[in-house]
Amino acid sequence: MSGSFNAIVAEEIDGKTRGSLKQLNLSDLPEEGVLIDISYSSLNYKDGLAVSGKGRICRKLPMVCGIDLAGTVAESSDSRFKVGDKVLVNGYELSEKYWGGYSQKQRVNPDFIVPLPEGLSLKETMAIGTAGYTAMLSIMALKKQGVTPEQGEILVTGAGGGVGSIAIAILSELGFDVVASTGRPELHEYLKRLGASSFIDRSELSEKGAPLAAERWAGVVDSVGSQTLANAIAQTKRDGCVAACGLAGGIDLPATVFPFILRGVTLCGIDSVMAPMALRLEAWKQLARDLPKERLAEITRTEPMTSIPELADQLIAGGIRGRVIVDVNA
Ligand code: NDP
Repeated sequence: MSGSFNAIVAEEIDGKTRGSLKQLNLSDLPEEGVLIDISYSSLNYKDGLAVSGKGRICRKLPMVCGIDLAGTVAESSDSRFKVGDKVLVNGYELSEKYWGGYSQKQRVNPDFIVPLPEGLSLKETMAIGTAGYTAMLSIMALKKQGVTPEQGEILVTGAGGGVGSIAIAILSELGFDVVASTGRPELHEYLKRLGASSFIDRSELSEKGAPLAAERWAGVVDSVGSQTLANAIAQTKRDGCVAACGLAGGIDLPATVFPFILRGVTLCGIDSVMAPMALRLEAWKQLARDLPKERLAEITRTEPMTSIPELADQLIAGGIRGRVIVDVNA
């Protein structure tokens, strides 16, 4: 490919930030050590906020959106990477401080780059994307706290979304009994196919509950936050663990200290964006091993980059199921 290429660029128009399809040239790209020919990116909650302008994600403008990318090294001034290497990048403030993956080409800081994990294709890494890698970081946190399948049920909130869907697929593969919380009963069959064994309606968790409720969960993967997270913590069993990774339902946490000081519950915060490289590599290794390919295919659909502005609005309205791979060359 020579000359110009396509990218989704966020700019301020009439006081509003919004991402749209633009043409860029190589000379527009930042001065970073590795040029990547991008094959795929993906759509995450944060991408929805950035492209729709509904959240202040981009800290400078213009900004090429897309917090994930996977592709092939086209030029490298860094000894760790050579032309032809297959690589991916998640987070590290792409689409916030640094230009991101909704582009056919991008220059990236070599410190951010993960070599393609053994056993996964470029497309599969973007089916997983930041959402799936965050699900794995959450599950690794539960396991680190000693949560095992023998201890009982695991609650996954925001089950129909990207983090939730992938968390269910991995947890069930690992032998956990998974209870899925969703506001969309029409997704029950889909969530069952991923491995959920039973369901709890989203509204049951989003209403104010007791500070210390009946003990139910051995562990929780929560991508919703707010009252849902507070209730999940209050329902967690003695010495159980709650991995808090999201805010789809709100940023507040109206909880008490009772579950922590009376039941020894652990609350683990999950930050995928700045997770250290060693943890990323381990998470990707475990994703290649523990996420069944047929379930990943069930979770995923592929869309052209041109449809991103429309899909971003749908995602923020809670209307996307599972994961969307973005084909930047379609
Ligand atoms: P999705 O939009 O794919 O999924 C979010 C899901 O949350 C929805 O599908 C819906 O599930 C549920 N939901 C949406 N709105 C509400 C609401 N108002 N109240 C309760 N539930 C709601 O997003 P992702 O899975 O990509 O991300 C989920 C969250 O995790 C986001 O907040 C995101 O910012 C966060 N995140 C954090 C990361 C980190 O590093 N900590 C990294 C990646 C994501 P259903 O319809 O089934 O109820």
